[in-house]
Amino acid sequence: MLLKLFKKYLAKKSEDSPFPVADSSSRRDLRLFLYNTLSRTKEEFRSIKKGYVGMYTCGPTVYGYPHLGNLRTYVFEDVLKRVLQKNGYKVNHVMNITDVGHLTNDRDMGEDKVEREAQKTGKTAWEIADFYTKIFKEDIKNLNIIFPNTFCKATDNIKEQIEMIQTLEKKGFTYKTTDGIYFDTSKVSDYTKLSGQNLEALREGARVEINDEKRNPTDFALWKFSKPEEKRQMEWKSPWGVGFPGWHIECSAMSVKYLGEQFDIHCGGSDSISLHHTNELAQTESATGKKPWVNFWMHGAFLNMDGGRKISKSAGDIITLNNTFIEKGSSPLVYRFATFSTHYRKPMEWSDDIAISAKQGLDNLYSKISNLGNKVGKINTEWRDKFMSAINDDLNMSQALAVLNEMLKSEFSKEDKLATAYDFDEILGLEFKNNTKEIKADKIPDEVQKLVDERSQVRKDKNWAKSDELRDKIKELGYEVKDMAEGIEIRKI
Ligand code: AMP
Ligand code: ZN
Repeated sequence: MLLKLFKKYLAKKSEDSPFPVADSSSRRDLRLFLYNTLSRTKEEFRSIKKGYVGMYTCGPTVYGYPHLGNLRTYVFEDVLKRVLQKNGYKVNHVMNITDVGHLTNDRDMGEDKVEREAQKTGKTAWEIADFYTKIFKEDIKNLNIIFPNTFCKATDNIKEQIEMIQTLEKKGFTYKTTDGIYFDTSKVSDYTKLSGQNLEALREGARVEINDEKRNPTDFALWKFSKPEEKRQMEWKSPWGVGFPGWHIECSAMSVKYLGEQFDIHCGGSDSISLHHTNELAQTESATGKKPWVNFWMHGAFLNMDGGRKISKSAGDIITLNNTFIEKGSSPLVYRFATFSTHYRKPMEWSDDIAISAKQGLDNLYSKISNLGNKVGKINTEWRDKFMSAINDDLNMSQALAVLNEMLKSEFSKEDKLATAYDFDEILGLEFKNNTKEIKADKIPDEVQKLVDERSQVRKDKNWAKSDELRDKIKELGYEVKDMAEGIEIRKI
């Protein structure tokens, strides 16, 4: 009877998840676990609809170049999406573009970042937003980040934002001040549930801004009025007067529009937890009346400068994909690879040394894979399971890379190793197929390859003197040959 019940339980489990439960042959747990900021624990991931994940990730504010910190968050989100896909889920990914309403002070004071940049440069706000949206898209393409199914701009969805504010107004969550319509956070009993912060501490933190008309320091703007003395370029009519939406309402309105009133995953950088996402959550659940709005909240830790200094978009020393990698002749994928060394929930400190060692590490990996030849065999399931259990353990990418390296060193055919490496690359996104061919074609001339093959033959015959002689000849041609456990490695000196 017990056995029957257990079998039934297992059958039910594998029905819920498109990926098999624990594999009895390897005894490896292949279930997907993700850290949920809301519960502050690693939880087994379950989607609302079988085999389908709705995922919303907060996108860029398009007034300046994305820096390596922003890009770290987008790479983490891309890995998450690939891991979900590898687990058999169809992912519907929506990302917003903030082109209006994000003020220089995150708590709804100061100037609109996009309008300010327009004034500084003499361009229109629309031109600024278009220009930096284009740069952002180029960067994520260069990082081999899979594009979202939907990119949505705040300025294209003003109607939806106004409608959500009207719903909040009808339900009694809003009030009017001289500069806008505000959300009354005291009406939400679980306002701090995402950050887990003490409400008093949060109120204290929010008190630094001077806005005497707010009922509570944590209250935030839903709609801001255009100031009579300044002519804004981006402004719209609303039931409350001409103005523009507050920063948080766009994500609530657009995620509900594209993913529904309840969906699976919402992501962003860790700075979003106590402000942007806390406010998104409060207003959305108040508007729809449905809880939970989002099942899994996931946040990427910050990338900071040496010594923990914050990267700032305005300081002039902004580190971008272009000035740190592309202009220096490095592949942007080196940055993608570099981010894998630190778990996404741990802060990372940037230094030039990281760029240098990541470049060496990736070149090394490409050359090992090049040396496997170009015949693609079968995926080795034992190694595949080891890799899956690393990535399914809350995206443990450094462990996943360790598995890849061990796999390359282990004893089985080159063809199957290549197939297995290509399979891992569906998560890593390092484009093994393109880059390894390039290395083979560009870097190892026929003359060198012939000497390498000859050397392999004389080594089989244990003719060490001839082998050394050939090694020197190869060196004279600018190449180094190394005998590794997994085969021969040829590198340019
Ligand atoms: P923004 O363009 O400032 O709206 O930010 C876009 C995304 O980058 C958001 O998810 C932020 O939370 C994230 N972000 C901002 N700064 C950093 C940083 N230094 N490290 C990691 N993520 C960041
Ligand atoms: Zn957002």
